[in-house]
Order: sequence, then C-alpha cells, then structure tokens
Amino acid sequence: MSLLRFKAVKEASDRKAAPVEIPAERPERYYAEKVFNREKMFEYLPKKTYDQLTYAIDNKQPISRELADSVADGMKRWAIDNGVRHYTHWFHPLTGGTAEKHDAFIEHDGKGGVVEEFSGKLLVQQEPDASSFPNGGIRNTFEARGYSAWDISSPVFIVNETLCIPTIFISYTGESLDFKTPLLRALNAVDEAATEVARFFDKEVRHVHSYLGWEQEYFLVDEALYAARPDLVMTGRTLMGHESAKNQQLEDHYFGAIPSRVAAFMLDLEIECHRLGIPAHTRHNEVAPNQFELAPIFEETNLANDHNLLLMSLMAEVAKRHNFRVLLHEKPFAGINGSGKHNNWSLGTDTGTLLFSPGKTPRENLRFMTFVAIVMAAVHRHNALLKASISSATNAHRLGANEAPPAIISIFTGKQIADIITRLENSTEDELITLGGKEGIDMGVAQIPEIMLDNTDRNRTSPFAFTGNRFEFRAVGSSANCASAMIALNAAVAEQLREFKKNVDARVEREESLYHAILEEVKKLITKSKAIHFDGNGYSDDWKAEAERRGLDCETSVPKIFDAYLRPESVKMFGETGVFSELELKARNEVKWETYTKKIQIEARVLGDLAINHIVPVATRYQSILVDNMVKLKTLFPVAKGNALTAADLSTIERMSEHMAVIKEETERMINARKKANAIESEREKAIAYHDNVVPAMERIRYHIDKLELMVDNEMWPLPKYREMLFIR
Ligand code: ADP
Ligand code: MG
Repeated sequence: MSLLRFKAVKEASDRKAAPVEIPAERPERYYAEKVFNREKMFEYLPKKTYDQLTYAIDNKQPISRELADSVADGMKRWAIDNGVRHYTHWFHPLTGGTAEKHDAFIEHDGKGGVVEEFSGKLLVQQEPDASSFPNGGIRNTFEARGYSAWDISSPVFIVNETLCIPTIFISYTGESLDFKTPLLRALNAVDEAATEVARFFDKEVRHVHSYLGWEQEYFLVDEALYAARPDLVMTGRTLMGHESAKNQQLEDHYFGAIPSRVAAFMLDLEIECHRLGIPAHTRHNEVAPNQFELAPIFEETNLANDHNLLLMSLMAEVAKRHNFRVLLHEKPFAGINGSGKHNNWSLGTDTGTLLFSPGKTPRENLRFMTFVAIVMAAVHRHNALLKASISSATNAHRLGANEAPPAIISIFTGKQIADIITRLENSTEDELITLGGKEGIDMGVAQIPEIMLDNTDRNRTSPFAFTGNRFEFRAVGSSANCASAMIALNAAVAEQLREFKKNVDARVEREESLYHAILEEVKKLITKSKAIHFDGNGYSDDWKAEAERRGLDCETSVPKIFDAYLRPESVKMFGETGVFSELELKARNEVKWETYTKKIQIEARVLGDLAINHIVPVATRYQSILVDNMVKLKTLFPVAKGNALTAADLSTIERMSEHMAVIKEETERMINARKKANAIESEREKAIAYHDNVVPAMERIRYHIDKLELMVDNEMWPLPKYREMLFIR
C-alpha cells in the first residue's frame, strides 16, 4: 500500500480515546467561570460602575469614557486574577470566522520598567490596521484605519490566557466591515417594530428579543488521515474519492452509540463550552458516518452567534487534543449527507411571551397568527434574499442536492396552521367584522392544541419550517456565520412588522375596531404570501416546476443568487430598517463574489495538482504492470490462447488510458477557463465565469479519477479512501 496512506490508516486505527480532565466540581460551579458576567462585574466593579454599566447594557446606551475607565480597571483585575497577560478585540470580519490582534497589558512606567495597564480607551475602541481585511472597496488600502468598538451587550471572556473583548468593526466613515454591526442593527430594528405590534395585544411589552438556537453539524476525521489528504488540508473537503460500499444506507449511525474516542472529544468540548458560558446541551451522531451535532440551549441572537463562532474555533482546538480534525465544510464527502447549521429562531417579549407560541385565549391566538403571518409575508417577499443570505461556494454543494434543503425557499407550517390559514383566507368580510367586533375570535384559532404543535410532523425537506414555537431556518451552512441569515431574516421581518403596524393604525383611525383591523391585515398577508407555503416534498422535481409557477426564486448559480442583495426591494428594506446603506450592500457583494471565486480557484488548483501529480502517475504505473504482464503472457502462449487470456486486461488498459486522457484534457481545459476568468475585471462576472466554466470541469475530472480508483491496485492508491476515513472506531 502507498506508504503514506498505509501509515496513516494504521495510526488512525490504533488510536485510543484520549484522556479527559474532568473537573472535580459539578458544571454549575464552573459554568461561565471564564466570562466577565454580571456576577464577576458585581464582584470586581465599584457599585456605582456596576449599576451604570448594567443600565447601559439593558437600555442599549453608550457608555462614557469615565465609566469605561472604571470598567476596564475591574476587568483587568479579574483578568490578572485568572492568569491573563494579553487582551484582544475579537471581531467577525467578512472573511468568516473571527479575528483577533493580541496586545500585552504592559505599559512603560517611566522608570525603565513596566506596569500592567489597561485603560477604558483600550477597552472601548481600537484602530487595528485592518487594510488586509476584505471591505469591497469601502476603505482604500492607503486609508487603513478601521475601528473596533466594544459591544457591551456581549460579555468579555478568556481564551488561552487572553482577555477577548467582543467588538464591532467599522470603517473610518462608519460603514460596517463585519457581521456584528449589521446584526445589532437588525436586532434593534426588529425589537422596535415587534414591540409596537406586540403592544396591540399587551400594553406591558417594552422590548422584543430575537432568539437563536443553532444546531452545529460537523465531521471528525483522524488527524493522520487528514494529513494524508492534501485536498482536506487545503480546501476542507475531499475533491475526489469513490463512495464507500457501506455509507449511510443502513441508517445505523444516527442516534447510534457514540464511539469512545468521539465521546471523549465531546465531553472535553462540553466542559470547555460550559467554562465559557456556552450552554451546550445536546450531542448526538448525525445521519452520515463520522457526522455529529452539538446544540446549545437557545439564547438572545447576538450572544448565541458569538457563542457559535467561539464554538467553531474551540472545536478545532479541542479536536487536536484528541487527534481529530473537525470538518465544518458543508460537503466534505460526496455521496453522503453534508453538514448544515439549523437556525432555530423566535421572537419573545420582555414580559416572557414567545410570540410564535399559541396561547390559551382567542386574543393570544390572534397574536400568534399575526406574527406567523408576518413572518410568512416577509419570507415570501424576500425569499430570494434569504437564499442569498445562506449561499456560498461551499454551501452550494448542499443546497439543491438530494439530501439537503432545496435551492428554493418555502415555509412548512404543518397541518394545524395550514387549516387555520385556509379558514382565515376564505372568511368573508362579514365574518371578519363579527369576529373582530367581539373580543374573541373563533376560527379554530382559539383551539390550537399546543401539544400537537410541538409534535408537528417534522418535514425534513423544508428549508424553513415552523416547529412548535419557533421557525427553523435549515438552509444555513455548517461553516457559515449565522449572522448573515439572522441579519436578513430579522430585518425583513422588521420591515413587515412596520408596515403591519402602519396599516392597522390607519384602519383604526378610520374607526374600525382594533381586532377587526388586525384580522383584515392578517388575512391580506396570508393571501398575498400564499405562494411561500409548501408542506410537500421539497426534493421532488414537481416542486421545482411548481415553485417556478408560483414565482419563487429558483436561481441555482450562487454568484447570481447574490444579486438579490442589490434588488430595489432589498435596498429599500435594508435602508428603511437602518441595517445596510446601498454602499455597504454593494461593497459586501463585491466581497461575496471575490470570496466565491477564491474558494473555487483554490479547489481547482489543488485538484489539478492531485490529478496530474498524484493520480495519473500512479494509474500509469499500474497500467504498465498490466501491459508488462500481458506482453509476457503472450510470449508464453500461442497467439489465439494469449489473446483470449489477456482480453480483460486489454480492455482495462484501454479504459484506463481513456480516463487518464480525459483527466489531462479536462485539467488543461480547467486551467484555461481559470486564466480566462482571472482576466475579467468585474468581480461578479469573474465569479460567474468560475461557476459556469471551472466548476463543471472539476466535476468531470473528479468523475474520471473516481473511476480510476476502482481500477488501480488498492496497494498503490496514494490517498486514504472514503472507507478508511469515514468509520471511527
Ligand atoms: P431538532 O434537532 O429536533 O430540531 P434540537 O433539540 O437538536 O432539535 O435543537 C433544537 C434547538 O432549538 C436547540 O438549540 C433549542 O435550544 C432551540 N430552541 C428551542 N426553542 C427555541 C425558541 N423558542 N427559539 C429559538 N430556539 C429554540
Ligand atoms: Mg433542528
């Protein structure tokens, strides 16, 4: 067997579960011990500072320089008590992931020594030289300054003896260069708009929070096998590899016993999560072999997203202690399920009501239907945009493929809500007047059995499903920053809520009763957004045709999907909700196209190298062994007998030559397609060229390599095979 592969396979299969340092205390003792939360604030800050800071956090107010100094002082003492020497502003650039620049606490003391120093100024604002972060042309390279500023709504935490300060990242002129800034703007917009509408039903409501519960799917691969696959190392996915004879067809992995090595990793990871205040809650095997999931208890969206980003980097680190590599790519292996990150999303009032939860009284249920109808209308109006918000070069392998949500956004509601929708939609004006005139309404709305809703048949094919008291946006990719989806969704819903409020107010002014006005508007929304509602099988071809007829966005080319951000209705929506200016939208799309191109470009280079320098040489070597053998057989036997004996080999040799010829030819074609694309000025057109010309060539190359894998002597094949990578013992 190829030496490297053999060594890797052996190393991986000999590996035992790594030991885990289990804390002596129970989780409640060490939970959030590395977070400067209110408990620590109370301990380390003067009472007055504590009061002012928590007031500012609760009321979303800026803090003064004086207050910042006092906070920084307490924070520094806490950090030093915990062995910390450095601090960093921690932000979420458009490249994805997180960025940090570490500084030591030390300052000159003027006497030739140093003092440990951390002022409010350093806490609140910094100017990282950020010219090398993508900005889509907003900030010219010579104007290198970008500001990072503390997001006081997200607590400071310690990782690797470093104090991490969650920050937003903006340009000198105030444009967002990150994911957090627009997310906070969208959350504010939805808070304001939803509060107004919630107050139709309950005057006590002061704020509405957006909640996010993500479910992170991932693959684990042994590090030795990973290291022997240049494609995994460089691109996060296998660019070639024939399906294993056994993969997920027996459905024996899902909820199966967790292998001991993996269980040790999960436990270790959970302990780390809990120390950092990430409420990791659920873990299990996923559908594909080596695929797993971690889900926390849901939290306020901004915090939940910080926690997801932190988790993703934490996973990579903890995995190393267990000789694993975590694959967050949406489709690391062909032929088996890819990984997503379901975004469970809901809105809830500061009075403790979940707004997508049916209640006990008719009024509560009218509120419930109001919010459901508003979400449906927003998702309908912006279905193309929502798809754009989850699209990427990597997620493209999932969407539209047979296992994942289709590349069409629709909403699954389940039967009970579908029935109510139908009844509301078909109700007459007279009915609505009587219903709205009374305090109560009785359209089945009043009798929604809560328990039934919780068990709503889980339609796994829907990209956006109602699941009891929340919506589940399932099309989000496993490696994505959830903020992208959460920005688009919360902003779109905020816009719809604002419109709803305006329309209801106008009706009430015309002396309609409030509930009648609400019912009328809900009915209007339902009728208008009917096309988005689909409870059937999202994978079927019928649905594609039907969705097209319904006018839903069916574009599948990712670079073109991004156009949705620049549609007039998107620009208007983002502008009115204050989430993005048109300039920001344009700049961010440039970054999206550029990132798309770069991802494919890297993959294409790696594939070209593997094809020509790893696969073709090995196949040629094996082929010449066959040729050699054939020639020898022919010298041993009379012509007719010799021909008969070698007929099968001849055909193998011929087919191998054909595969290799196509591989060389297609690699040549792929390189030329790249050269041509690289010469294109416009980022959008370049990305389209990569999508249209480079990607298909890559797929053809892979097809022929996978065929060769089945023909070449197993001992000679250079790369670990799927069956060797996919089954951790
Ligand atoms: P499933 O895989 O069946 O969808 P999980 O238990 O794996 O369910 O994940 C459900 C996720 O949804 C968890 O993160 C949970 O905290 C979250 N969740 C539950 N209720 C809400 C809600 N009202 N808003 C947001 N997220 C929620
Ligand atoms: Mg789920």
